Amino acid sequence: LKMHVAFTIDVDADVAWACEGKTCAVTKGKDEALFEASESGFVSLQALLEENGWPATLFFEARAAEAMNAGDKDLKNFEIACHGLAHEDFTGKDTGLKMKRGDKAAVLAEAKRKLEDVFPRHSISGFRAPYLHWDKELLELLLETGFLYDSSVTVAREREVDSPLPEVPLLEFEVAGKKKSSYLWQLMEGKYSVEEYLPFVAKALEENALVVLATHSWHLSRSVAKGELSDAQAKANEEKVRKVLNFAEESGAMFTSISDFLGVSLD
Ligand SMILES: [Zn+2]
Repeated sequence: LKMHVAFTIDVDADVAWACEGKTCAVTKGKDEALFEASESGFVSLQALLEENGWPATLFFEARAAEAMNAGDKDLKNFEIACHGLAHEDFTGKDTGLKMKRGDKAAVLAEAKRKLEDVFPRHSISGFRAPYLHWDKELLELLLETGFLYDSSVTVAREREVDSPLPEVPLLEFEVAGKKKSSYLWQLMEGKYSVEEYLPFVAKALEENALVVLATHSWHLSRSVAKGELSDAQAKANEEKVRKVLNFAEESGAMFTSISDFLGVSLD
């Protein structure tokens, strides 16, 4: 049985943070959305992936794709998927603002259309909810909008998620007394070392047909707790990603985009 890893990058605003009473996000501590760290981190990660021949799925916020002129980048080796229009909190959990069903549908359709404009050679099949905030209504709307899968749900082990469309979940479970997740967030924040994280990857590969790993491109050079990081710290974060992915490859995992794994690519 072949093990698979889908490395995914959420490309959104630097330290995208929910605003109270507004659906869209800004950069934490600012009154606007910045894309500098997101872009520079993306350039580093793209180079790392290409150097190793690793495919990946890029969940682009449509606003970020436009701000970064991402259509000018050569991304033919990558899957492009959707991470909202302007990093909406679709459930209103953090913003306190309940979006109407019609407003959510309009935002999803516009995000998909914008990404199709920016990336005319890609088909946009997948979706990941900003903040991983999802509910049944959002999943229904994704299907109605023409998305072919979602990757917003976190579970301890891959299983059938009760959803109207295929779900490619993120994983989270305890290893050596600490909860670890598909998201490299805590690793990037320095909450634990790469060595402490690798047993999570090993166990996840043992128990699941597809292991999704995820990071934000800005997380190389921005820390939620510490703010802007030095070039050396950004390089160290990039090395953490390299070590995790190298470990997966050395464990025998095959790298794939999510759409290729599901066989839903329409290109
Ligand atoms: Zn995000």
